Amino acid sequence: MALTDILARLRSAETAAGRAEGSVTLIAVSKVQPPERVEAVLEQGHRVFGENYVQEAAGKWPAWRDRFPGVALHMIGPLQTNKARLAVDLFDAIHTLDRPSLAAKLASLAQARGSLPQLFVQVNTGEEPQKAGVLPADLTAFLRDCRALDLTPIGLMCIPPEGEDSTPHFAMLARMAADHGLSGLSMGMSSDFEAAVAHGATHIRVGSAIFGARSYSAP
Ligand SMILES: *Cc1c(COP(=O)(O)O)cnc(C)c1O
Repeated sequence: MALTDILARLRSAETAAGRAEGSVTLIAVSKVQPPERVEAVLEQGHRVFGENYVQEAAGKWPAWRDRFPGVALHMIGPLQTNKARLAVDLFDAIHTLDRPSLAAKLASLAQARGSLPQLFVQVNTGEEPQKAGVLPADLTAFLRDCRALDLTPIGLMCIPPEGEDSTPHFAMLARMAADHGLSGLSMGMSSDFEAAVAHGATHIRVGSAIFGARSYSAP
């Protein structure tokens, strides 16, 4: 079964990189997958999942959480400011903190509720105009603004440009995280997670290699 294969490949990649087995968190990206595929992975004991759309996640995860204790949910899609409140209630981590207005919104939610999910800052390593994320040149200032708001991101996240070699992007993200004393690195997907582990990923986000191809109709 695909989950077992991916876990085995992840363990080999950890070992090859001289890293402890189990040191990388596998986020199973379940966006727009049929429920029976997600339930099969839950039945196998996996508990860490990623979603891209707040509304979709809010519709399906509360019931699964009741049935399968211990689920950790990671928000990996662009987060609209007006969905931030729902997102902080639903998710254990948000990987897509990418702009000052969202930082301000999260800071005010943190004041009201006393806690927040773990935060990763998304960096647009490829400097693609259509892609979310803080530009590398703006990262230092953005992190300073976050800290001024009492937000403490634990790491960085990137989505390398499609069709390009991911490795320079992984290397760049790792370097920026080290420069800023951040330990979390959310990088690597179905096609390149082994390279991401070699470059120090702490969280990989794998969807289609576990669940099969997505048929995009939602939401
Ligand atoms: C969909 C998605 C993934 C998973 O992609 P696969 O290629 O199916 O592994 C990972 N990260 C982000 C940000 C995504 O949107």
